[in-house]
Amino acid sequence: MAKLVTGAPRSVTVLGATGSVGRSTADLLASEPGRFRVEALTAATNADSLVEMARRLTPRFVAIANEAHYKAVKTALAGMDIEVAAGPDAVLEAARRDADLVIAAIVGAAGLPPTLEAVRRGATVALANKEALVCTGPLMAAEVAKSGATLLPIDSEHNAVFQVFDFERPETIDKIILTASGGPFREADRKTMARATPSDACNHPVWSMGAKISVDSATMMNKGLEVIEAHYLFPLAEERPGDRIEVLVHPQSVVHSMVSYRDGSFLAQLGTPDMKIPIAYALAWPDRMDAQAERLDLVRIGSLHFEAPNPEKFPAIGLARAALREGGSAPAVLNAANEVAVARFLEGGLGFLDIASVVEETLQQVNGGAVTSVEEVIQTDLSARRMAESIVRRMA
Ligand code: NAD
Ligand code: MG
Repeated sequence: MAKLVTGAPRSVTVLGATGSVGRSTADLLASEPGRFRVEALTAATNADSLVEMARRLTPRFVAIANEAHYKAVKTALAGMDIEVAAGPDAVLEAARRDADLVIAAIVGAAGLPPTLEAVRRGATVALANKEALVCTGPLMAAEVAKSGATLLPIDSEHNAVFQVFDFERPETIDKIILTASGGPFREADRKTMARATPSDACNHPVWSMGAKISVDSATMMNKGLEVIEAHYLFPLAEERPGDRIEVLVHPQSVVHSMVSYRDGSFLAQLGTPDMKIPIAYALAWPDRMDAQAERLDLVRIGSLHFEAPNPEKFPAIGLARAALREGGSAPAVLNAANEVAVARFLEGGLGFLDIASVVEETLQQVNGGAVTSVEEVIQTDLSARRMAESIVRRMA
């Protein structure tokens, strides 16, 4: 279980501090300065934003992954008693430093090594980065068991499930029901989707998020990744991986997910769609803090809408389920191909509907083995990326 330091401020490290989740985390840390002490902050390339945040939160250590920005960060923080380092090893060092809580908010497979590093030292890890768990699920579970680390999901659906899941009696649970907003193309036809631009895809109707996850929400690959994430986070008595995890479209994103019990009871967590609520939950856990978010007004909302997902329009959920059932490193192949396809789509070099096609073909071509080490997963990730790149080139 987590090492909770009572009395002293909780020390927190934020990996991916300059991103959407990272910035919300920083605002919450700043809202109760006596309650938290910031150990380390990391970013990839956004030196200005990292410097501004470091001045505000005065961490002991700051790491910028891109070495080209080292000098700028070092100079800007001179005289502040903040250690500055650069490069991927510096990000790992940030994860290794002794903090009570590590917020894993780097996007994509790049978050994998530092997240595992924090898990290995037995930290409490608040997990926003879903890709790390998708790629290394069995390995991560083994490392958590070995080190005694605690994983607190920040992804809103998993955070909701975590709040209502009876970990003492998992056999009483029938299903996890993950809700999905349906993204910006819920009501669009495939013709419109085929012409979708990056700005159409990133124009999420409810959530404000980073570009990659916004595109994932538009293809609904995000929900596919979340089915895999839920499989690894919650002990369900499944016959086949994923068969007790359902997806339900709920455009208002008020019910963040549900657990249905064998007796017919459904327990859900509700709130306004604001990531500050699950982030605040993780920061204060097992206590609670003010998330500085708008409160839910159910009278104003009036009614809640639900519908089944459309598998023809959103094949990504089915691809993710197939990868989960195949097991081993198939989810890592799925994730790598998706990261490549989304990046090319965002650059204007791939059509929106081609994202799922690239993922499907990469899954057919790359045969990943079992997940036994991070090095192997990284190798599989690289082969899948190369294959996805060549499929994209052929499609262009
Ligand atoms: P973002 O793109 O806004 O931010 C990503 C962060 O990762 C930035 O700080 C960036 O500097 C850092 N980063 C990127 N590449 C890196 C690298 N190679 N090395 C080190 N750092 C690197 O992303 P986001 O929307 O904040 O999402 C972060 C993670 O949380 C993603 O895995 C996403 O799926 C998950 N998540 C986000 C939301 C949300 O509302 N934004 C909700 C649920 C889950
Ligand atoms: Mg989510």
